[in-house]
Amino acid sequence: MAALMNPKWNGQFSCFDLVAKTDECRRSVVQVRDIEIGGSDFVVMAGPCAVESETQLLQTAEAVAEAGARILRGGAYKPRSSPYAFQGLGVEGLKILRKAREETGIAIITEVMSEEDVDLIAEYADIMQVGTRSMENFALLEALGGCGRPVLLKRGMTATLEELLRSAQIIAMAGNSQIILCERGIRTFETATRNTLDIAAVPVLKAVSHLPVIVDPSHAAGVRSLVPALSRAAAVVGADGLLVEVHPAPDQALSDGTQSLTFAQFHEMMDDLRPYLALRGEAHEFREQVTAGRSAR
Ligand code: PEP
Ligand code: MN
Repeated sequence: MAALMNPKWNGQFSCFDLVAKTDECRRSVVQVRDIEIGGSDFVVMAGPCAVESETQLLQTAEAVAEAGARILRGGAYKPRSSPYAFQGLGVEGLKILRKAREETGIAIITEVMSEEDVDLIAEYADIMQVGTRSMENFALLEALGGCGRPVLLKRGMTATLEELLRSAQIIAMAGNSQIILCERGIRTFETATRNTLDIAAVPVLKAVSHLPVIVDPSHAAGVRSLVPALSRAAAVVGADGLLVEVHPAPDQALSDGTQSLTFAQFHEMMDDLRPYLALRGEAHEFREQVTAGRSAR
């Protein structure tokens, strides 16, 4: 395996010792209730960009769970690039997320933007999401060290993988090793998509770090028609799961409607993913057998 690693990467990443892959720690699994992220399952997190109302969220929770998602996403505190855009429902949104968990049993991921909100959000969320605009909010990263919940750390839209791992190391040093990395597209000169999904980031991160890696195809694409293809790519490139935006009526969504899937589209995408996930499982098993055979020799 070492032969496949670009020698440059060792020097570049091994200093982030708490999150770097080592012989002693090759793969870590983040446990969220009964869900294992980074193990053999491909874990799908889905839901609206923002929590807008109880009806919207409860309907979505039921629809995505029925289609096979294990975790419900939904922002209560929204980092918006424009001050005129919908800013989220705040605590009211957190209460709606809690209600969705009580009624459907689904786990919850929601964004935290400020260190002042960490304790409050940790009371409601199963996973704390750090958005692309907050990847270098060091006060927030440090506060998440003591939050007692797993953290999903999104790559900054102009951040290198080294900078992403530096931020992960800060959370780990502050006392929290339950970290999931998320590739959500980066800024390039291309304008046909909202961001450019750096698909190579997945195998690079899996090669240099023991942390689970998931892909957010929605913010990468910016347009819903591309989301299924990018999700398939994530499944076969070695990602541990997805974070996908789904809305009951995307055209009326208060944020990110153009990249949100309808319930039917999400269901179809999950069905279409099945052969790719079966292939992923088979490849995984095959690799284990080959490795076992090699070490028995
Ligand atoms: C989101 O997940 O809704 C979000 C704001 O994502 P990002 O931080 O990747 O832009
Ligand atoms: Mn969004």
